[in-house]
Amino acid sequence: MDVFGGEVPRTLAELVTLPGVARKTANIVMSNSFGIHEGIAVDTHVTRLAYRLGLTDAKDAVKIERDLMPLYPREHWGEINNMLVYFGREVCPARTPKCPSCELEDICPKCGVAGK
Ligand code: SF4
Repeated sequence: MDVFGGEVPRTLAELVTLPGVARKTANIVMSNSFGIHEGIAVDTHVTRLAYRLGLTDAKDAVKIERDLMPLYPREHWGEINNMLVYFGREVCPARTPKCPSCELEDICPKCGVAGK
């Protein structure tokens, strides 16, 4: 209230100054609330899928985000988190990836390596 007058800030730099808001949440708010894509929200699903699909070797969320951003048109950055979360939950969960029925089986470098 004191800093932003009760309005949700519309920049990533301002959002991350709010208590409890880090880059992931700020990216989701920016994309879903304002249609502004400053980055890609990286959570546990995005981290796992980016690694398994060979899109990054990084472990750090900021570095993973930087590896992913050049791979997709900016207008799709907001969809990446939703798509990878859904895919991660339905097809490629952490402990039991469904590789034999996965559409990406032929191109996935980590196919069949459950838990890695
Ligand atoms: S092939 Fe297996 S490890 Fe690779 S994305 Fe599909 S379910 Fe995940």
